[in-house]
Amino acid sequence: MALPLIGRGWVRLPALAFASAAVLAAPAAAQSLADLRNDAATAGDVATYGMGWGQQRHSALKQVTPANVKRLVPVWNLSLDHSANASTQPLVIDGTMYVATHSHTLAIDAASGRQLWKTPIELPADVNGYLCCGIHSRGLAALNGFLYRTTLDAHVVALSMKDGKQVWKVKAADYKQGYSMTHAPLIAGGVLITGISGGEYGTRGFLNGWDLKTGEKKWHRWTTAGAGDKGADTWKPGMADTGGAPTWLTGTYDPELDLVYWGTGNGGPWNPATRGGDSLHICSMLAIRPGTGEIVWTYQFSPGDPYDYDGTNEPVLADLAIDGKPTKVLMQANRNGFFYVLDRTSGKLLRANQFAKKVNWASGIDMASGRPIDTPMTAAVRKTEEQTEVIEVWPSAFGGKNWMPMSFDPGRKLAFFNTVNLGMKVKYVKQARPGGPNWWLGLELAGFAAPEDGMRGSLVAWDPVAGKKVWEVNSKAPNWSGVLSTAGGLVFVGTQTGQFKAHDAKTGKELWSFQTGSGITGLPIAWEHKGTQYITVTSGAATVYGALAGDPELANVPAGSSVWTFAVMR
Ligand code: CA
Ligand code: CA
Repeated sequence: MALPLIGRGWVRLPALAFASAAVLAAPAAAQSLADLRNDAATAGDVATYGMGWGQQRHSALKQVTPANVKRLVPVWNLSLDHSANASTQPLVIDGTMYVATHSHTLAIDAASGRQLWKTPIELPADVNGYLCCGIHSRGLAALNGFLYRTTLDAHVVALSMKDGKQVWKVKAADYKQGYSMTHAPLIAGGVLITGISGGEYGTRGFLNGWDLKTGEKKWHRWTTAGAGDKGADTWKPGMADTGGAPTWLTGTYDPELDLVYWGTGNGGPWNPATRGGDSLHICSMLAIRPGTGEIVWTYQFSPGDPYDYDGTNEPVLADLAIDGKPTKVLMQANRNGFFYVLDRTSGKLLRANQFAKKVNWASGIDMASGRPIDTPMTAAVRKTEEQTEVIEVWPSAFGGKNWMPMSFDPGRKLAFFNTVNLGMKVKYVKQARPGGPNWWLGLELAGFAAPEDGMRGSLVAWDPVAGKKVWEVNSKAPNWSGVLSTAGGLVFVGTQTGQFKAHDAKTGKELWSFQTGSGITGLPIAWEHKGTQYITVTSGAATVYGALAGDPELANVPAGSSVWTFAVMR
């Protein structure tokens, strides 16, 4: 099963872009560690991926409301000049917007939409042939006048915010082994932290800590328990060395506990009997010390994981009253179909409730052991490497929710997220690890199963304490965008058919919609400039879902990516 290769969007833009940078010169960025720490509380700027270290993606801004959102209109649109996936979250710092694409980093005058500088990423000409799972860049980290990002060929780059000039560039892994990087780095504990993609290619996952000033590698932490590690006996001998557990999405940070939370992905191969046992630490949440990479606690969502459920979805941090007691929690809507609430000081499981409409791989999560309760289907899959029958598994490998991050409204104490409602038909087979960049799954994918009502997704408001849906809005195609909630009482979301929408946070009712010209897989943000609230989202879809799921809704959606910024017409 080969993924289609999505347009070679990285023709180098030469002197032209730099020449305009010299004329315009972006304002100096006076950004500090305190700006990162306070990002969620300072609604004007967006200084971090996730709109705060806890990734709540919630804005305190109240100017746009259910009463006036009908007058929300585009203020500007800027082309990103490529046809790859635009699943990225911009930053807005001191009046300048910074955007990462797979091929460039750019700065935009946030008020006018005028491009200030645009710096190409130098990529090897053959990198397309080695990429596992998508051509995009999800975002940036920023501190003290520098931007930090990752590249498709598994490098980490620092650039000057002022003019986009590269300051340093270091290699995290060899792309020819199937490693790549698409996530935004995390600045935590004085260190730049990055993960890695490539879990479908028989790679071994890891996390790295880098020196912010020089790019020097401060630490390296494998995410599978190899020979000599605690948990090595959860693998067949040697299998941990190619065992996956990639760290392909950005983690969160609690500065008081000085803990970084970072999820790990599927095991390699997907076939659990090939690996044997729980395969620690695939599909897990790791709590680590950012200064050293030391693992403080772990929780495994999907032990042994046969279904590519990953555990990489965003770990959102909040303080909630659990059984009447104020508790520092970590929330994750996991691909396996359950919404988890963990005590983030210890990793103790507090809640695990089914949010996906249909789940047939587990009958629930045992709260005492924290382990899923296998259905007979899953128990059989774990036992035999070679299955004779095709089974239908819900949710599919796309998960009950995929990577597109949720928001959490700390006032309403509700999480808002996009679900996927699909099954998959698979048969497990013995597969030796292929040489070169090829999928190593140990199964044959016979297709996907759509739900009877044809509704392949929904936007859900979820009460994490009660473990219940508060409202749900179904859609034919699942939304593949991030979610933004605002104190004004709105929930913003983009559809794969191009509509950028505002829903009433109270009821879920759709209040506003605007067609952006391509599917939306971007992560919307809210920010403020000279007293006006703006909403920004990138449009431009070229997703793995679009390529594989055979969704009839997406038959006529063009590619082509751009940045849209909206405000209420006065
Ligand atoms: Ca802020
Ligand atoms: Ca995966």
